[in-house]
Amino acid sequence: MSLRLTVDGPRWRAHLLATAAGHPGIVPVAKGNGYGFTIGRLARRVQWLHEHAEQTGTPVDLMAVGTYRELAQAASRYAGDLLVLTPWRPVGGAVEVPEATDHRVVHTISRVQDLRDLTDRDPGARFVLEQLTSMRRHGMTRRELAEAAEVVADRRLPGLRGLALHLPLNNASHLGEVTRLVNDAVAAGIATRTVFVSHLTRDELVRLRSTYPDFSFRPRIGTDLWLGDRGALTVTSTVLDVHPLDRGEAFGYRGRSMPTSGHLLVVSGGTAHGIGLEAPSGEQSIRARAATLARGGMDAAGFVRSPFSIDGKQRLFAEPPHMQASMLFVPSGARVPAIGEDIDVRVRFTATDFDDVVVG
Ligand SMILES: *Cc1c(COP(=O)(O)O)cnc(C)c1O
Repeated sequence: MSLRLTVDGPRWRAHLLATAAGHPGIVPVAKGNGYGFTIGRLARRVQWLHEHAEQTGTPVDLMAVGTYRELAQAASRYAGDLLVLTPWRPVGGAVEVPEATDHRVVHTISRVQDLRDLTDRDPGARFVLEQLTSMRRHGMTRRELAEAAEVVADRRLPGLRGLALHLPLNNASHLGEVTRLVNDAVAAGIATRTVFVSHLTRDELVRLRSTYPDFSFRPRIGTDLWLGDRGALTVTSTVLDVHPLDRGEAFGYRGRSMPTSGHLLVVSGGTAHGIGLEAPSGEQSIRARAATLARGGMDAAGFVRSPFSIDGKQRLFAEPPHMQASMLFVPSGARVPAIGEDIDVRVRFTATDFDDVVVG
């Protein structure tokens, strides 16, 4: 009776090993909802990846979490170092890391004043220096990076672990941008030869490594690691109830009625799980909408597509999803699943909280 993620274990683990093998120096990312798996489960899996270093050819001595608050979920399940992706600031969780975890943390520094502040507090703190990319999220400009390099040199800081670049998710090549940023860092006299990057293809990494043979490029990977083999992942929802409905009969929170007869299905999965409304239909043009209206279709009557499907057919929500369940409409003529049966759901893994994750 749940919204469940079922993982084909052997296939998923084979994909994880292959991804690590193809990305030497990989830094697995586990943040937010843990890509649907939870951060704790992923942290255990990162430990497992590290233990398979002989097979993959790459130790996994570092994993990344998103925020300071997330450290605790990873720290008890993974023994290596923990990179926090959200930049350090002199407030909140960043300055309250428990001592037991503190020595394993690698901070992300995106402002010169934060580098001074962090190392005033802890001269031995470990950190990466984030450069501003075309994402324009966090990071230092070329001038600021040069200033940071001076701080590192003047204070003889031992904790510099590398540069960090967060690149956009686009199809165009990142090589020009990365080359410019690495050249900026070299010109700034930064005393590190490690660059942490995101969203580069394997081919781009290979080319960068040949352009900068004395540098080590370490890819931070979340989505392509955990969710890269979608065929290994199945999401299902349990049918909780079924009610036959005649045309015109009322149902639901708002007492609306059905323009045609069929069945009302109550299934697991609602707003608390991250189940949301889908776009009404693929047909967005005014002409297409007018044609749908003329046909008197269900979507014309205001029923929207749901992410749930039965026998391969995507079904309409009978009304917007409830907190933990959703009501679907099954038109007469279609097979009505039994109570207790599982049906398929399409979800965004990064926005879904499953009741159950079953790894086979
Ligand atoms: C989330 C994140 C990643 C991983 O992104 P994916 O698209 O899930 O691989 C890498 N770097 C930073 C800074 C991030 O915030």
